[in-house]
Amino acid sequence: MSRVYNFSAGPSAFPESVLKQAQAELLEWRDSGMSVMEMSHRGKFFSLIAEELEADLRALMAIPSNYKVLFLQGGASAQFSLIPQNILNGKTKACYVNTGAWSEKAIQDAKAVCEVVVSASGESGKFTSIPDLSSWAIDTDAAYLHYTSNETIHGVEFQTIPDSKGLTLVSDMSSNILSREFDVSQFGLIYAGTQKNMGPAGVTVVIVREDLVGHAAKGIPPVFDYAQQVKNGSMLNTPATYNWYLVGLVLKWLKEQGGVAAIEKRNINKAEKLYNVIDQSSLYRNPVEKTVRSRMNVPFILADEALDKPFLAAAEANGLFELKGHRSVGGMRASIYNAMPESGIDALCEFIKEFERSH
Ligand SMILES: *Cc1c(COP(=O)(O)O)cnc(C)c1O
Repeated sequence: MSRVYNFSAGPSAFPESVLKQAQAELLEWRDSGMSVMEMSHRGKFFSLIAEELEADLRALMAIPSNYKVLFLQGGASAQFSLIPQNILNGKTKACYVNTGAWSEKAIQDAKAVCEVVVSASGESGKFTSIPDLSSWAIDTDAAYLHYTSNETIHGVEFQTIPDSKGLTLVSDMSSNILSREFDVSQFGLIYAGTQKNMGPAGVTVVIVREDLVGHAAKGIPPVFDYAQQVKNGSMLNTPATYNWYLVGLVLKWLKEQGGVAAIEKRNINKAEKLYNVIDQSSLYRNPVEKTVRSRMNVPFILADEALDKPFLAAAEANGLFELKGHRSVGGMRASIYNAMPESGIDALCEFIKEFERSH
């Protein structure tokens, strides 16, 4: 079997050239005489990989020098608890905007640590829109305002950075980091698991303004204390070395593509093509309000649920995989991250039109 177009929400498709490079370097990295997997994380070869990884991410996102960049474990999910434990800094509450399944999880986990003020919620509209900013209840006594930049399951994405009314802004960018330009200086903290847009599962990127570091709750395990990890270059203990290397390769690939601005243009074009086909059909429907539709995750529902199974089977027969929607939303979902080539979008568009014609 040959490689298919993989629309998985995460872990998700890699750029093929990166996989080939990893394959070519599997036994021996550059002149090191060993695989990256076998290297000491303190050795000179891995130190080079780690330095390039951070430098490339800083360059791609234009991260200002007063921000620290961490590469941690535990996934974005661990950060749901670790963010309040690290940055409440004596305050007792935090504001959260609830725009879908991932916001809900972040809220749930933060509640075990502090008082959570839900500033706005899209729940009554089944998370198909983002509540108007003017209606957000922002509590100025809160330590920060948290929002989920792209809701991977509901397919809802902020198109601009919300005004936090002076509160420190914190964002879960797991599924749209590096897919569009962000002005990092507007955030106190950005975090993202790498398995959507940056590489394999197993690394969590935390970009944090330096004044927020050093205020962790007493008794926090040292590996979860941002200050300890900053001091140790994210190597307080053995990091996920091979995964760091793979993320590094994806970042180099992205630089070759022209960087974030260039990939954003392509992402806009890819998403537009797919939404147009869905909107023009009478068989498929995307429930999300047009102004907040995600460029990364495109859910679509078939008019007749009985067609779901035949749709998925026919899609696979055409080399289009992992299109089944999340169980909480139903229908289909196409995740079209940076690594999904335009040819994959074209193949999907052709297929969904053809399936409509024949059903
Ligand atoms: C996938 C995802 C997560 C969870 O990531 P884990 O690495 O599995 O913890 C959190 N937030 C968003 C927006 C996601 O897409």
